[in-house]
Amino acid sequence: MSESNVIIVGAGPAGMSAAIQLTRMGYSVIVFEKAVIGGLLKNARQIDNYLGLRAQSGKQLIDKFKEHLEHYQVLVIREKVSLVNYEETEARFIVQTPTQQFKSKYLIIASGTNALSHDLEKQIPKELRGIVHHEVHPLSQLRNEKVLIIGGGDAAFDYALNLSENQNDVTILHNTTQQRCLAEFKNQVLARPEISILADYEISDMQATPETMPPEATLVLQKDGGTTTLENINQIIIAIGRIPEKSFLSPDTASKWEKLEKNKLLFWAGDVKGGRNRQTAIACGDGIKAALEIDRKESENN
Ligand SMILES: Cc1cc2nc3c(=O)[nH]c(=O)nc-3n(C[C@H](O)[C@H](O)[C@H](O)COP(=O)(O)OP(=O)(O)OC[C@H]3O[C@@H](n4cnc5c(N)ncnc54)[C@H](O)[C@@H]3O)c2cc1C
Repeated sequence: MSESNVIIVGAGPAGMSAAIQLTRMGYSVIVFEKAVIGGLLKNARQIDNYLGLRAQSGKQLIDKFKEHLEHYQVLVIREKVSLVNYEETEARFIVQTPTQQFKSKYLIIASGTNALSHDLEKQIPKELRGIVHHEVHPLSQLRNEKVLIIGGGDAAFDYALNLSENQNDVTILHNTTQQRCLAEFKNQVLARPEISILADYEISDMQATPETMPPEATLVLQKDGGTTTLENINQIIIAIGRIPEKSFLSPDTASKWEKLEKNKLLFWAGDVKGGRNRQTAIACGDGIKAALEIDRKESENN
């Protein structure tokens, strides 16, 4: 079984920052990434609040982060961490992927978040499953299509602006009277005729529109006791919120994470911490802080 000083779950901004800091300080590090390097940022249309790098798309920022990782030759294994268990007897984390096992003294969990599901998803007709998404990046090549985005927060508005730039006809639908997004996003959306907003609507049903191939969706909407339909929807994005991803912790390790955290063996970094301040710079800061705390603990022990 391979061993490193530190294992990091997730190669988003938090995991990458921690890995670079630790490598610079001379620690052996393995980062696991189940999808692509960069994390959630790959969906971001334009990042304007990352110091020194204004008006970058998420993908441009990821390319810069990757160059930085490559410069320090950080080892990223492109596999999903399926289970993490803390072995008290060895004082080591045992990290399992579908094909291998690894161990480490320290663990940094930088696994970000998963999208929340909509109740509607339990009953989506099987022919429509391929047109329902939780992120915008799979639709980067989409042109001249009718897209419905369910959600009223920053991500929903960012996705709408992104898709409207490629001549798609976009509708944002949410079940509240007010949106919860940045005023800047709302003003941009209101200025774009390709985007419509349906506020305060509930979706009561979703079916395949008859005789359409590839499949299209028809949704039944309720508002103020009345019913309307939205027809011939080509793609749907559900962006109604996100929850921390920590499903890979064994029940035993999940029950003692507070003790492991207090003993400075396990660290949480970035969006997985579950706060409302989910931002790239904060995730990077968390990653660097975890790395510095590991270094401090090692110095105290030696
Ligand atoms: C549309 C949109 C626009 C945004 N715009 C901005 C913005 O303008 N400014 C800003 O600062 N932030 C923005 N953000 C937020 C920013 O993307 C996140 O705060 C940031 O990516 C969080 O980094 P992270 O490393 O904590 O998590 P993530 O980026 O989510 O990375 C976590 C990584 O862990 C991996 N992972 C999870 N589980 C496992 C496992 N079991 N095994 C292996 N790998 C695993 C995931 O695949 C993922 O790559 C935006 C986000 C979105 C969606």
